[in-house]
Amino acid sequence: MRVKPNMDISGKITDIGINVPNLFEKLLNEKQTLLADGATGTNLFAMGLQSGDAPELWNVDQPDKVAAHYRSFIDAGSDIVLTNTFGGTRYRLKLHNAQDRVAELNIAATEILKAVIADSGREVIVAGSIGPSGEILAPLGEMQPDEAVAAFTEQALALKKGGADVLWIETMSSLEEVELAVKGAREAELPIVFTMSLDTNGRTMMGVGASDLMALDQQLKPHVHACGTNCGIGASEVVAAVLNLKLNATDGSESILIAKANCGIPEFVDGEIVYNGTPEIMANYAVMARNAGARIIGGCCGTSAEHVVAMRKALDSTPISAPPTLDDIQRVLGEISEGAKAQARGEHRVVTRVVKRRRRRH
Ligand SMILES: [Zn+2]
Repeated sequence: MRVKPNMDISGKITDIGINVPNLFEKLLNEKQTLLADGATGTNLFAMGLQSGDAPELWNVDQPDKVAAHYRSFIDAGSDIVLTNTFGGTRYRLKLHNAQDRVAELNIAATEILKAVIADSGREVIVAGSIGPSGEILAPLGEMQPDEAVAAFTEQALALKKGGADVLWIETMSSLEEVELAVKGAREAELPIVFTMSLDTNGRTMMGVGASDLMALDQQLKPHVHACGTNCGIGASEVVAAVLNLKLNATDGSESILIAKANCGIPEFVDGEIVYNGTPEIMANYAVMARNAGARIIGGCCGTSAEHVVAMRKALDSTPISAPPTLDDIQRVLGEISEGAKAQARGEHRVVTRVVKRRRRRH
């Protein structure tokens, strides 16, 4: 529903011109910390999704399993659950010959989540997940900026139609692609957040570090509500990244930071990738991420409902305290990259700039 300012029933006009009560903004105003969910991809694989299959097709082919996945995180205490639409742009769906099913698959994912939330009787934010296109922008690659914007708009409008409260641009590597995704998503007139994967020595694989990310956040305000980091190479690195983001937040406390760490370090066991994080590690990570300055905390690849239960309990039972030092983080969660440490010392020079094509899944 969109109403004119003089018809505003909440009496609140937000900075992006949305003048109806929005659950994402409401809960951010009400709660100091919002707990997000865990992984989508790795949990769907655990439920039988086959490697190479598009998780998004399950929104139509296996809706009960997608619902069970959502329900597991709602029951675990998540305030925010992401839709199963990470690869829901036409670029990604094209790999499965489903490029003409963007609206159908994104709406289905969102409607299933809305229904599960309604059943739960809890207030849970529907976050419409938007992942990278998987393409490289011209002139290095073939994706034209206007086509990318159109693809992100197409997905965003479908997520809105299904009932998303916020558009959740995630696992990004390139500043340019975030800009294009935000530009596309703005058409849906919903709050927008973005997170980037700082998985390469404290930077994204395209060389984006904490200072670049926060500069982009500034540039994109007021069109983005929050920013941060997700996925990557473990919980220690994500907490260090939050410290570095905070260090570069030019407006001090105003930037709302997001942390969504993988459940430990990926390891190959019997030909499969498994994550070595325990509920205890994820509980410690959640508390440290909050102390470092994150207001929205969740897990990424490998994070199951069991881990989120432990995170909920830890956040609810532990008072906020001083930000951790890098030594604290390393002692409790594991190693931090030299690149992240350098950024913590204020060294922002791009040391490595790796441009390569890599498709991700969650
Ligand atoms: Zn991930």
